[in-house]
Amino acid sequence: MSDYNWCHGPNCHTYQTQSRIRGSGRDKVLRTIKIKHNSNYRSHERYHMFNFFCNQNCLMDFIRAHITSIVAIAPRREAQETPIKVEKEQLKDYYNYPYTKTRITKVDNA
Ligand SMILES: [Zn+2]
Repeated sequence: MSDYNWCHGPNCHTYQTQSRIRGSGRDKVLRTIKIKHNSNYRSHERYHMFNFFCNQNCLMDFIRAHITSIVAIAPRREAQETPIKVEKEQLKDYYNYPYTKTRITKVDNA
């Protein structure tokens, strides 16, 4: 298995940046960005998507191009609900004006 991916952004190879220029002499190309896997930043779960996209712009290009297929993977046909408890508390601010603080807590129905 290779230790890199090519960026999956459909337009990656068209953005005019120094980092994409390849080739010698006058015959040059803009090439898709190569993404190496070995960084701790990219292995963190939250940033795992950046193993496949060189930046957020390429990620959004991909989503725009494939949104219909993406949502078809896990269709949402009805609303979801999270059971909560709502508590209202009457408080006074620094100037002694009353205000209501709303506290929402999840209800664990496990
Ligand atoms: Zn890219």
